[in-house]
Amino acid sequence: MPLLNPPGEPNPRIKADEIVEILRRAVEREAPGSRTVAPAPGPVPAKRGWLESCANPDCRTGWMQLWRGRTAPVFEGGWSCSPGCTEARVRAAVQREGRGRTESLRPHRHRIPLGLLMLEKGWITAEQLKSALASQRQHKAGKLGSWLMRQEGIGEDLVTRAVALQWSCPVLPVGGHHPAALTPLVPRLFVDAFGALPLRRSAGRLLYLGFESRLDPVLALAVERMTGFKVECGVVADSEFSQAHERALRARYPSVELVEAMSPEAAVRVLARAIEKAKPVDAKLVRVHDLLWLRLFRKAGEGAAPEIGSVEDLLCTIAGQ
Ligand SMILES: [Zn+2]
Repeated sequence: MPLLNPPGEPNPRIKADEIVEILRRAVEREAPGSRTVAPAPGPVPAKRGWLESCANPDCRTGWMQLWRGRTAPVFEGGWSCSPGCTEARVRAAVQREGRGRTESLRPHRHRIPLGLLMLEKGWITAEQLKSALASQRQHKAGKLGSWLMRQEGIGEDLVTRAVALQWSCPVLPVGGHHPAALTPLVPRLFVDAFGALPLRRSAGRLLYLGFESRLDPVLALAVERMTGFKVECGVVADSEFSQAHERALRARYPSVELVEAMSPEAAVRVLARAIEKAKPVDAKLVRVHDLLWLRLFRKAGEGAAPEIGSVEDLLCTIAGQ
């Protein structure tokens, strides 16, 4: 390789473009893949990192400083150049999720009470309804449907159909239920505490979520936003639900961290720190009732159907909310 400036002798023959070429070769020989030339290859798409602009709209980092080969983390499809910028983007997402909260707190009211609906359909008599209601009142326990089945001998299929009519949703069968194929889609807590039962998924990106007697449209919407699957909710007959639910709870789920933050700002810091630490290839935040659900994706290109080990969940509650 010719020297740029041999001692005591200027080298007028070397032109600017040759200098660039010489420097490039020198850098490659000394440190292949050196950050001066290109970002270190990571598990993320090659376009990330250098010359891609930071996703924080208020980023103050100049473009020269973006040449640092920082390829992750990515949050909601956008790369952020520094921990400060990650935090700013998480803050915007937490505020966005907070705005939808009041809507989800409104209690759902059925148009027609279960007993009345079954009476209208001719599935029970007025006497059976009165008797079941009296027992429910007296014992201060149990669902009306259970009393109708246990005391009045009404078939479970009729009660399940009536619940489905109340919610205008289908009755979902549990046959061929394989929890292991579905558990990467939701944290275990959703199955355990919210009683959502992922039943099956179709190639057309449709996920069937079963519930026992009360649907949870807020949860369904959150799963839809997080996974990209269209979620179809339905009711499952009581007797089938409990077995399938137990089976689902025995399956393996993505690892999860539960955090209680003292304020929305504390939540922002916790979530941003988790993103900075994991350096995910993507991450998403959605609200489910009082929980902020942050999902960290460790592998690119898996999208809606991740492997169980490639996603991590963080569930954050905010004190006083
Ligand atoms: Zn930035």
